[in-house]
Amino acid sequence: MAGLLFHSIDVKPKFNMSSFPLDKFRALLDYLKRNNAAATTVSECGMRNAECGTQNALSTVITFDDGLLSFYENAYPLLEEKNIKVTLFPVAGLLGKTGGWDVMGRTSHISAPVLREIASTGHEIGSHSLTHANLVWLDNRELMKELRDSKDILEDVTGMPVKSLSFPFGSWNRRVWDAAKSAGYLYAAAYRGHRRAPTEMLPVLGAYRFDSVEDIIERISPNPSISKTLAGIMSHFSKGTPIVKFRKEYVEFPGWQRS
Ligand SMILES: [Zn+2]
Repeated sequence: MAGLLFHSIDVKPKFNMSSFPLDKFRALLDYLKRNNAAATTVSECGMRNAECGTQNALSTVITFDDGLLSFYENAYPLLEEKNIKVTLFPVAGLLGKTGGWDVMGRTSHISAPVLREIASTGHEIGSHSLTHANLVWLDNRELMKELRDSKDILEDVTGMPVKSLSFPFGSWNRRVWDAAKSAGYLYAAAYRGHRRAPTEMLPVLGAYRFDSVEDIIERISPNPSISKTLAGIMSHFSKGTPIVKFRKEYVEFPGWQRS
């Protein structure tokens, strides 16, 4: 199975590929809910491993990187209403701050009390590092600081163990994952390098501004014939979808992607 990676849910999407429209997010959640397909969190999935999402059933894990305020304002109320649990990966050193590595502008991050509230309602909180550093570039000392300090901060704030990690920019290698395991992480969401990912990593696929709900269902579907049927069922959700479509494969383009 594959998980889905979101960053920001916005009523009026910003000029940014990772700003996902609220109305489409609602349609996706409705679909997943009706099909009992918004399975679980990254850690629960990791613990159940092979049983996480049966091979023939559509099932996914929803993840959010960065811990943006727009998650709390727009996505969280909907998720609570539909009782769908997700895994949120905040940048631990940016809680309550405005910051950004995004060329499209600075972004607001959720505060510690808000994060505590989110954790208390059953969503998993994992780490997305301390400063959103590209972990593969760091020396061992810096790497361990990003991994350990972020875990400590998030555990202090939530009062719960932090078991999972999402790599900033999706950037990881064997050294980074070995270091993460030694820092106490058990699971990871991997946005890149799916083929070489160990079993404790859940592959996640990006959901972008111009994706239709059918595009997303198809992307996470284990069975293309099922997904074709779904695409037909889902066609009414595509009303209002922009005609402009980007190719399915992710294309590296400056400013498009924060993972
Ligand atoms: Zn990120």
